[in-house]
Amino acid sequence: MGASMQGDSSIQATIAAVLDILTVMAKKKGKKVRVAFRRNRTQPARDKSWTRQFNEHGFENTDTVKRESLIPKGDMSRKRTIIEDQDTSHLNLREGRAIATRGLIVDVDDGERVWPCTVRRILRTRLIDERHPVAVGDVVQFMISAVTPNADQAGVIYSVYARTSQLTRQSGERIHVIAANVDQVLIVASADEPPLKPQLIDRYLVAAHAGNITPLICINKIDLADDENLASVAAMYRGIGYQVILASAATGEGIDALKAALAGKETVVAGQSGVGKSTLLNVVQPGLQLATAEVSQSSSKGKHTTTTAQLLRLAFGGYVVDTPGVRSYDLAVVPKNEFELHFVEFVEHVPRCRFPDCTHIHEGECAIKQAIEDGLIDPRRYESYRRLYEED
Ligand code: GDP
Ligand code: ZN
Repeated sequence: MGASMQGDSSIQATIAAVLDILTVMAKKKGKKVRVAFRRNRTQPARDKSWTRQFNEHGFENTDTVKRESLIPKGDMSRKRTIIEDQDTSHLNLREGRAIATRGLIVDVDDGERVWPCTVRRILRTRLIDERHPVAVGDVVQFMISAVTPNADQAGVIYSVYARTSQLTRQSGERIHVIAANVDQVLIVASADEPPLKPQLIDRYLVAAHAGNITPLICINKIDLADDENLASVAAMYRGIGYQVILASAATGEGIDALKAALAGKETVVAGQSGVGKSTLLNVVQPGLQLATAEVSQSSSKGKHTTTTAQLLRLAFGGYVVDTPGVRSYDLAVVPKNEFELHFVEFVEHVPRCRFPDCTHIHEGECAIKQAIEDGLIDPRRYESYRRLYEED
């Protein structure tokens, strides 16, 4: 998977990429096949969330043979290995959604109940690049253990469907998928304490674009600083097409707008520590608590397990992905030469750079630099780009 946004200027277009995936139920036994991703820019990003579909129809209407999904980032036809399995009809596989991961156990909701599942060994070894083969939000096929249907390991996840979107961070050498198949990333910043830093917002924007997730920005704590800088930062992001909500968890300002933005959507909440993410969500829905640290839960056997991520249901519709990992993630999963694709307002200028492989840092006759001079690109955004580019 790689970038797929060349030449598109709107946010919608930059997140639109489509692939066909092969069915998990294939004929030949254990044979690996290469499947080309197919792009389609004109396709809307996603017209329904899994949860909505799931609530309305369960899974019986979903097409398990061929499903169109979006790729997070990708070259035109990068390929991906999919393992074809033998005829699985005798396995009595069910479909569900991974709603929580805790260590090696994944809670799968099939619409009837939540099944704690382990993950089939081949899946664990297959995705060696990823820290966990199953992420919160993944749509999976699983089978229920006939022996211990109510135990802590009631099922086994058999396969994972291709993701329509994912938010990832680097975890050592491996990629950690924070959440899969979600609608949006709510990037929370604060007007002050900590001070407003567009560069941090830009990092999250790049991650959201790269993961094919619609970003929106919420600047909290406007009770502390409602000044020119705030207005100018908000105008900058609105000017390039992002929704910006100005809010204060303290005074309640902007909370209705935030609720409206979250309603019916699946949202990952991201942002620097201390900006007020937990406080905001608690105002949006009293009692809804983000796991600010790793939360210990007692399992039925009295053991302590750690919830690494989970989907929290909002009373007014939608879900928030609660994960302790989202706060300090790293963008290293996006190659440097793809950054320009994720700065939406850069994209239309890039083809006019003199050098086709222009990094927009030190080359002459650079269309990005020209656009800054012409007032078409905000220098603060370029500064973010430059800093990201020059990081190790
Ligand atoms: P998180 O780390 O992003 O989850 O941030 P928290 O929700 O823990 O909030 C960090 C601090 O900011 C806490 O002391 C909150 O009381 C405070 N805080 C949160 N929202 C606001 C706000 O709108 N205005 C002010 N003045 N303080 C806030
Ligand atoms: Zn350039």
